[in-house]
Amino acid sequence: MKAAAFSYARATSVANALELLVAYGDKAKVLSGGQSLIPAMNLRLISPELIVDIGEITELRGIAVRGGVLRVGALTRHVDLLRSPEIAAYAPLLTEAVAHVAHPAIRNRGTLGGSLAHADPAAELPASMVALNATIVVRGQARERRIAARDFFTGIYETALSAQELLIGVELPIAQKSSAHFFHEFARRHGDYAIAGLAAQAIVQGGLFTDLRTAFFAVADRPILAKAATKLINVGITPTVLVEASATLAAELDPQGDQQASAAMRRHLAKILLARCVSTLLGRPDLTPGGTG
Ligand SMILES: Cc1cc2nc3c(=O)[nH]c(=O)nc-3n(C[C@H](O)[C@H](O)[C@H](O)COP(=O)(O)OP(=O)(O)OC[C@H]3O[C@@H](n4cnc5c(N)ncnc54)[C@H](O)[C@@H]3O)c2cc1C
Repeated sequence: MKAAAFSYARATSVANALELLVAYGDKAKVLSGGQSLIPAMNLRLISPELIVDIGEITELRGIAVRGGVLRVGALTRHVDLLRSPEIAAYAPLLTEAVAHVAHPAIRNRGTLGGSLAHADPAAELPASMVALNATIVVRGQARERRIAARDFFTGIYETALSAQELLIGVELPIAQKSSAHFFHEFARRHGDYAIAGLAAQAIVQGGLFTDLRTAFFAVADRPILAKAATKLINVGITPTVLVEASATLAAELDPQGDQQASAAMRRHLAKILLARCVSTLLGRPDLTPGGTG
């Protein structure tokens, strides 16, 4: 199937892109890497009147560290994240997560901004942003907004972005010396969207978590920053403490069943992910499901 007829405009600047978005409103769609937009148009799930191609706006590219903040432009491609020494040094969770996004051909074109604006609940990068406590920067003609990642994703393929705004980039606090991260997903094949996944960022001191942000994906309509993790902060973790946190986690998730997994299986996998995360980050094999504890 082919897309319905549409008009095409190559934006020359952020201001130019915003003019077009304001003029066309809901009838326009931004084009970044095209890896989600074009298939959706070809399947006629959406039929925008105008495509606003932002691919040549150089100010939306790049990775920089300034004032203790790592800034990543919206047009930064998945492959650039994967290869970036700055990302590996200051946000290594992202390096690990992006290796699970699709396959090289898609990573060569797909962009960070596109992935976040698309907001697939099973995608790796939105959850990583929530775990990393990122700020998502969006710009409209009148003002720029900075939105905490945990508030940016509002539902399946839904975000706090309006049709007249552009996602400009993200800001990430840089990892501290005592920072640790965990990323794992269950998927049928490497590169597939996850059946259940966890991106986590922690600070570990003296065998305790002094901070733990666990963002689960593919187990609700958006990435979920689990409140269960707060039960694991500044406490000596025993198998009983972990079982209690797992029960809290299961109650706060709202997974959907589909042909890949039932809701019950997704909940079960999320509990396994939490246990593996805690056991890995604390170096405590006794806390692994089926461990010695
Ligand atoms: C076969 C296949 C497998 C895939 N597997 C995975 C996977 O395992 N995990 C995963 O996370 N992703 C996967 N993807 C999706 C891929 O990561 C996409 O690249 C990504 O979701 C969208 O990025 P994009 O730059 O291609 O965005 P586009 O397709 O260009 O745009 C996606 C949406 O975001 C909007 N948008 C784009 N940029 C902006 C912006 N700056 N401001 C406002 N709105 C914007 C567009 O209007 C559109 O609605 C897969 C894709 C394919 C085709």
